[in-house]
Amino acid sequence: MDILKRTPKIKIFITTTTIVVFFYLVYLLSFPLVASAISRQQRNTYNSGSIHYDIDISTYTGACIGTLPGANNAEKVWNFFISKGFSPEQTAGILGNMAIESGFEPMQLQNTRWGSKTPSSEAESSRLGWGLVQWTPARKVITTLRGEGASYDYIDTVEQQVAFLLDQLEGTAPDHNEKAAGDDLKIQTTVAGATESFMKEYERPRDQSDSAVQKRVVQAENYFNQFSGNTAGGAGGCITAGNWTWPSTQTATVTSCFGLRSSPGGIGSRNHRGVDIAAGMGSPVYAAADGEVTFSGSAGDAGLMVVIKHSEILDTRYLHNSRLLVNIGDQVTAGQRIADEGSTGSSTGSHLHFEIKRNNEQINPFTELAIPDTVTNRANCTSIASS
Ligand SMILES: [Zn+2]
Repeated sequence: MDILKRTPKIKIFITTTTIVVFFYLVYLLSFPLVASAISRQQRNTYNSGSIHYDIDISTYTGACIGTLPGANNAEKVWNFFISKGFSPEQTAGILGNMAIESGFEPMQLQNTRWGSKTPSSEAESSRLGWGLVQWTPARKVITTLRGEGASYDYIDTVEQQVAFLLDQLEGTAPDHNEKAAGDDLKIQTTVAGATESFMKEYERPRDQSDSAVQKRVVQAENYFNQFSGNTAGGAGGCITAGNWTWPSTQTATVTSCFGLRSSPGGIGSRNHRGVDIAAGMGSPVYAAADGEVTFSGSAGDAGLMVVIKHSEILDTRYLHNSRLLVNIGDQVTAGQRIADEGSTGSSTGSHLHFEIKRNNEQINPFTELAIPDTVTNRANCTSIASS
């Protein structure tokens, strides 16, 4: 009798315990999921560019890729501030200071070997200066950017640091703004004036003697001379509309767009990594920008091909030619005739297959190269407005 009476109670007890334990386990297991969901969300927000510190490629006129263009960090910094409306003199002033502060090494920690790298994750607790402009203490930039959802990896980059510096100068950073310094820099009209302004108003080093200023001015003048005459190609791979030269004749016909298509005659590529432009057998093929010929010869399916390097990260390729007019190592200028159009390699008829490779990857040429009004766009490719 007793047992029979007790059994339901035991059952209820076991059932209740099971339910409680089950939900407790679910609760425990949910922690890592919730944590990663938050960080993923933060990451997405961050990557979408809605957080100010991500460089928004769509509004960054000088940018072509997720990283700033430039053969080295100094050139990246130059291109960034120029694209943000700073004059060459003002930009040189920033560079002259960075050269002395960090040598353009974003992971430079004060009092460590020059050129050595201390990642932000290790530098954050340091009271020393860190980064391109030696933010002191290091957490000034690191903790602020962490609070905005930036990863340590990204904080270690030039891209992230110049974006933060710009915000400080414009007074739009969430913390540690330096708008007075930015305003003072923006009224400077000489390299020396901009260098001294950035040093005394923003950097505020202990030694503000004339000789200390002069050291930075020498660096600033050097970068000014190096970069202020940058042609579009020399600016590190950011040739944009109006700077590209149409590589064929003004009366050519665009016959194939970039991207997916049905294979022409079963011969052409289905995923087309360039654009096809036809002007007739033997028509001139022109260099689309200044650069150095890094290949000129026969290349299998590509036929007789020319490759021109415009910067460390930017090349153009011209395929299927009937005749080559340049040699490897030649310096060519925009608009220079480099080949004759043809149908060599895997080709169904005379045409120029034109490619732009940025960071070793083909991009759609018509996102940057305008199709001239006189050219027939039979393929109906989308192109940026003609220039
Ligand atoms: Zn093609």
